[in-house]
Amino acid sequence: MTTPAPTPAVRDRTLSLPSHELPAYVYDVSALRTHAATVRAALPPSIELYYAAKANPEPEILAALGPYVDGYEVSSGGELAHVRKAAPDRPLAFGGPGKTPAEIASALELGVARFHVESIHELHVLAALARRADVRDVGVLLRFNLPVPGDSLADSSLAMGGRPTPFGLDPADADTAVRLLTDGTHPHLRLLGVHAHLASGLHAPAQLAIAASIVTWAADLAARHRVRLAEVNVGGGMTVDYAAPDQLFDWAAYGTGLARLAVAHPDLTLRIEPGRALTAYCGWYVTQVLDVKLSHGEEFAVVRGGTHHLRTPATKNHDQPCTVLPVDAWPHPWPRPTAQHSRVTLTGQLCTPKDLLSRHVPAPGLRAGDRVAFALAGAYAWNISHHDFLMHPRPTFHFLDRTPQT
Ligand SMILES: *Cc1c(COP(=O)(O)O)cnc(C)c1O
Repeated sequence: MTTPAPTPAVRDRTLSLPSHELPAYVYDVSALRTHAATVRAALPPSIELYYAAKANPEPEILAALGPYVDGYEVSSGGELAHVRKAAPDRPLAFGGPGKTPAEIASALELGVARFHVESIHELHVLAALARRADVRDVGVLLRFNLPVPGDSLADSSLAMGGRPTPFGLDPADADTAVRLLTDGTHPHLRLLGVHAHLASGLHAPAQLAIAASIVTWAADLAARHRVRLAEVNVGGGMTVDYAAPDQLFDWAAYGTGLARLAVAHPDLTLRIEPGRALTAYCGWYVTQVLDVKLSHGEEFAVVRGGTHHLRTPATKNHDQPCTVLPVDAWPHPWPRPTAQHSRVTLTGQLCTPKDLLSRHVPAPGLRAGDRVAFALAGAYAWNISHHDFLMHPRPTFHFLDRTPQT
């Protein structure tokens, strides 16, 4: 595993924080801007880019992405209120299964531009609430769980579509849904198009195959009903490879493929909504080794914090890539706990053997007091973690931004 070294700014902050401010989440906001600009530049200008806020909704992250995205995708009433406040006046798409009437009503009130409707029932609820609030021209994209072409899911880590799941409408409901939106039943709603988010963890060729199949399916649906669909959202799920962190999703190849798709469907606005692949790389969970011990032949280092702060390795069952930052000072008169073996398993402070951050890390000579920076902690990290378990203190948060603000 080649672990990307922390950026100089992250390294400096990791080494300068006092122990009691560790663990910490350190975000390199300037690096995030650079990455987002690269992604935006790789996409044809006609492709719309929404950021899926659930990957990391920190206000500083949402704001830094602002210049590079066309809008944000939110998946709950909480995200809706939060993103509306953090990024006022930006277009929002409201998706997710099980939207409550109260969430839908507040989305209508806040002027959400697009609803990703997940079922026929939800369509009726949305229509009834739009009528009651007298909101007209409510934009609807029907979210479908579409079949996935060939072996596109072979490298997927998480499949939301192409198999039985609670997400989206079944294709068998497509004709009913389109009819309800075009025969005058629901005059407050306007059918904008089709949405599908079928899998995550996909490389560019599989993403392109899926995007093409979604667009073809949507074009067939439109032709069958003689309606115009203005938009197709082909979802997120661009891969982040935790085992090979230096191998980024091939945005250039993806952009080229999307450009071809856009040329073939000139009437259509194509939209993507990545989360993980935009923000994973900018975040670091940094901490300090508290103890090092040999147990039945295996070396363990216990660090301040653990998977209650960085749940990603536990949920994805991987080893979080990390870098050791040696600290020479040792304030105690007794011997410093030091790894005898060349590989060390890094665990947290939780009283469970599942609290594993990274196994068998090559870290010869690792010592108590050394610092460790876990990479790729900018998405699905802090915000998916069960931080109240065992009542340890929360991490501190640092947003490093060297970009001059105008
Ligand atoms: C989670 C989610 C995304 C983002 O997925 P990533 O794997 O983070 O890119 C996009 N769209 C929908 C509907 C989602 O649920």
